[in-house]
Amino acid sequence: MTVIDGKGLANEIKLDIKNEVKSLNSNNIFPKLAVIMVGNDSASRIYVNNKSKACEKVGIAFEEFIYDEDISQKMLIDKIKELNEDKSINGILLQCPIPKNLNLNEALSTIDPDKDVDGFNPVNVGRLCVGEDTFISCTPYGIMKMFEKYNIELCGKHTVVIGRSNIVGKPLIQCLLRKNATVTVCHSKTEDLEHYTREADVLISAIGKPMIVRENMVKRGVVVIDVGISRLEDGKIVGDVDFDNVSKKASFITPVPGGVGPMTIAMLLSNVVKATKKQFNI
Ligand code: NAP
Repeated sequence: MTVIDGKGLANEIKLDIKNEVKSLNSNNIFPKLAVIMVGNDSASRIYVNNKSKACEKVGIAFEEFIYDEDISQKMLIDKIKELNEDKSINGILLQCPIPKNLNLNEALSTIDPDKDVDGFNPVNVGRLCVGEDTFISCTPYGIMKMFEKYNIELCGKHTVVIGRSNIVGKPLIQCLLRKNATVTVCHSKTEDLEHYTREADVLISAIGKPMIVRENMVKRGVVVIDVGISRLEDGKIVGDVDFDNVSKKASFITPVPGGVGPMTIAMLLSNVVKATKKQFNI
């Protein structure tokens, strides 16, 4: 059994990005990410800080725009439009979630598709579906990089994805189809989840409930990717998968923390560099 080292792979990718940023800098190009955050959600604050630190480490400039929960939809849309026009900004990210009174879909659709480093604009989602070059949302993109790095074959394999969110499950399904995997999608209304998970050659869980994927739910030799992040009462961070027991049957498995999480941030940085190069026709 191999534990997939997401942290190590993310560090390799970040080193490559740092060198690429240096080379862009030598041509007077300075990649910059703008992050908009609405409200004061403590988890979002941590995520934004982590993104800021990651940008700093690879030399990507970072600017955050933080608004109170009572910001109007118009102000939010106007800010996005202003950033779209700003030539010094190469990537724009709206930190989710945003307050329920705001229209998230309208906001995401307003982000210039060429600056949409999270890949959430429906234009980019559509490009992914039809197999065009696009910005792939960072978590699925990071998972696909892990498959590539560890030479995990997907063609013809039965891949079971648990979770169908717009940010993880749905884009991941498209990425897997592009690699000719046979894809089954499960969610909270799926009857007899175990029936499907036991059939999986590759099982990807993106639920957000601690350790619900148990040893008896997987077959021997399965590849397990655990996207979930949950904090237990004692403060410990765990994934959707009972790592200690499932790892006894798996051929490959990602840990939590240190698996998918670091890859998500690395792919965000990669998307910012890609957006910058696209804007400069490089
Ligand atoms: P989400 O929007 O809440 O989606 C959760 C999905 O899980 C939904 O599709 C839901 O089904 C399904 N689900 C819930 N309970 C289930 C159950 N008992 N059995 C089967 N399916 C069930 O969450 P998300 O944003 O995709 O995130 C999922 C998890 O990944 C969270 O823990 C989040 O923190 C983590 N995450 C990690 C990273 C990272 O970088 N590591 C990035 C993003 C998210 P319905 O559609 O029917 O409701």
